[in-house]
Amino acid sequence: MSPITAFNVAVIGAGAAGLAAARHLHKEGHTVVVFEKQRQLGGTWIYTPTTEPDPLGLDPNRPIIHSSLYASLRTNLPREAMSFREYPFVAKKMGQSQRDPRRYPGHGEVLEYLKDYANEFGLSELVRFETEVTRVWRDGNGKWEVRSRKISGDKKDNVVCEGFDAVVVCNGHYSEPRIAHIPGIDRWPGKQIHSHNYRVPDPFRNQVVVLIGSSASAVDISREIAGVAKEVHIASRSTSSEEIAKLPGYDNIWLRPMIESAHEDGTISFPSGVMVSADIILHCTGYKYHFRFLDTEGIVSVDDNRVGPLYKHVFPPSLAPWLSFVGLPWKIIPFPQFELQCEWISGILSGRISLPSPDEMMKDVEAFYSSLQASGVPKRYTHNMADYQVN
Ligand code: FAD
Repeated sequence: MSPITAFNVAVIGAGAAGLAAARHLHKEGHTVVVFEKQRQLGGTWIYTPTTEPDPLGLDPNRPIIHSSLYASLRTNLPREAMSFREYPFVAKKMGQSQRDPRRYPGHGEVLEYLKDYANEFGLSELVRFETEVTRVWRDGNGKWEVRSRKISGDKKDNVVCEGFDAVVVCNGHYSEPRIAHIPGIDRWPGKQIHSHNYRVPDPFRNQVVVLIGSSASAVDISREIAGVAKEVHIASRSTSSEEIAKLPGYDNIWLRPMIESAHEDGTISFPSGVMVSADIILHCTGYKYHFRFLDTEGIVSVDDNRVGPLYKHVFPPSLAPWLSFVGLPWKIIPFPQFELQCEWISGILSGRISLPSPDEMMKDVEAFYSSLQASGVPKRYTHNMADYQVN
């Protein structure tokens, strides 16, 4: 058996994935620095009522709000399924105040759970808060350089460059909106917003809203705004023209196929000649992977939302195991999967587990991409694991 080796590892992000990475790398004996641009851990689970100035989130220079949570969000998985395997997510009491004991708790309870997890394993001490990673690249010796910048405090704007043996990328992928292309939208006079910037239903009061999408967020938000909006029309690729109907239990929600076009007079056309005069289009159309800080000289790229080439969604074959990604798959049960990915990465780095050769990994990746193509799965669904983990 090869000797167990310890390395200097940089983890980017202190959300659930970054915390799991810190925990398992540290447990395995590696030295870990977690870079986190926010002032606390939790990533997505740090709710803020603040939204971005560009409601569609398209301006690359906008100030970015990381979390896409809305005020009313409760988990769509039971707490048991959100447990890290070594630290169950049980209902707890804190002092006199009862925490949210529900099986599908509100978002605040998940943040508390992540703080508990970090306390249990001493993870906060490994995190440099308010420190944004601005560039990651390999030096001439194959080591990784990480450039970071202090966001506030005495050392605000202080830029530091440090060398690491390995980098684990855990920057999340629910902050960079994708929007639907709608013919004629440039001339349409109404308002548009992406669900990244949705917090509460009030701005939709008495409005006619066309909501695009069929994800968990689309389901939640459409029902929530229907309580105040005049009409909600849900446009989705998964609805056929024959299925147009009012949503059972609601007077003011219609299910419709995808929009055909938008017009200067404020109307939106749907198939079969249906026209709706709408005030707002709400895009619940998902997000794009983004790694602006990462320079791999073209080895890893994002192509139509496929991050690749990655062996098992984690390692770029030619850079393994020195660069890895945690948390890319979606339609999964996230926290336990992060944990498994992090145990795997940590064990490979220490030499306890071995990887196939770069050539073998590349062949595996190519075979996977070919199988997706043969089944007609678009590139943007490369990391959709619905068929593997959740049925
Ligand atoms: P994040 O939580 O996004 O954390 C990434 C961290 O990286 C952030 O703290 C960010 O500040 C930091 N970061 C990014 N870039 C940099 C940089 N350059 N430098 C330094 N730090 C950086 N999952 C569930 O299990 N159950 C649910 O019910 C559920 N509901 C969801 C509802 C919504 C609306 C959304 C958007 C997601 C939901 N998820 C749910 C999925 C959720 O995103 C994952 O559970 C998980 O929180 C993702 O963790 P992460 O660490 O990968 O990313």
